Amino acid sequence: MPNSTLLDTIIARLCSARGVLLVGHLAADGDSLGACLGLWHLLRARGVPAYVVGAEKVPARFSFLPGSGSVIVESTGLPDYWDVVVVMDCGDWDRTGLSDALLRREDKNLQLRGEVTIINIDHHQTNRGLLGMAWVDPSYAAVGQQVLALAEQADLRVTPDVATCLYTALATDTGFFRHSNTTGAVLRDAAKLLEAGADMRAVVEHCLQRKTLAELCLLRGALASLTQECDGRVTVMEIPFTVFTSCGVEEAEMEGMIDYARAVPGTQIAVLLRAVQAGITKVSFRSRGNNDVSVVAVSFGGGGHPNAAGCTLPLPISDARAAVLAAVRQVLACG
Ligand code: AMP
Ligand code: MN
Ligand code: MN
Repeated sequence: MPNSTLLDTIIARLCSARGVLLVGHLAADGDSLGACLGLWHLLRARGVPAYVVGAEKVPARFSFLPGSGSVIVESTGLPDYWDVVVVMDCGDWDRTGLSDALLRREDKNLQLRGEVTIINIDHHQTNRGLLGMAWVDPSYAAVGQQVLALAEQADLRVTPDVATCLYTALATDTGFFRHSNTTGAVLRDAAKLLEAGADMRAVVEHCLQRKTLAELCLLRGALASLTQECDGRVTVMEIPFTVFTSCGVEEAEMEGMIDYARAVPGTQIAVLLRAVQAGITKVSFRSRGNNDVSVVAVSFGGGGHPNAAGCTLPLPISDARAAVLAAVRQVLACG
């Protein structure tokens, strides 16, 4: 159940806004984009001028989302006015990849016309609740599920477009209803979204069953790199920068790759290291049971959930591997 006083305050602020920027995190996923676009449709139907703004263009995988064509890339222009910024699916501004100026100014002429209200809607356990008016609740499987709760509390109609966006958020963040965050409430909410007209087949087709040639090229390289540590309790995948560039891959095409490492029997923690730029390595962690990988991710400046977390290290892949495996070994007490 939502904290209704906080949620009512957020709803009142959103509905009285004269311009709302909706922002997710870098390397957008189904939840950050689905939640932003779901709330975008809801606010616009209510007559509130709203804009989804990102640091990067919408990945091809998500271009089926209703409204994705209206997403604004910061570097190509901003709306004339906004007085509220909603940060979704992450807990610090750096993760949005957007300039700080968006939080300080209200128009493109840099004329400050009053405070910008920051609202943070997130479900990450590692979110410390320091970003503006923060509605952070890890009992939700996805921010899209929080947006559905908001719509219900505010009595806003969930149209088929809203439902498709929110269903995408819920389906992708639960691994299509397979992760341990798939509660009865999640399935009830998914049912509501289907009944509201969510295009479930489109979501499955684009987010689950679509594998581009570039992604399969990358998968080949990643599978070839599989190694194990800690007597098979840790399975590691690596994607060196050369493989990344020769396959010509987009970030959103990485979804699900780490699941192959996690799938190997005996694996308690799976680690995927990818050199996204020379000297910059992104690390993903997945775990089974009580092995909390968010602690490891946080120790390297990242975050996430107990069984799925990530961080980015300013190190070449081999150095990043040594650093994170030392921390993973500590979690598993395998010297
Ligand atoms: P990924 O491995 O990228 O699928 O991310 C797994 C989880 O960790 C997601 O909930 C992400 O939002 C979170 N996460 C990944 N990278 C970071 C980071 N650099 N900082 C904070 N959270 C992250
Ligand atoms: Mn996310
Ligand atoms: Mn999420």
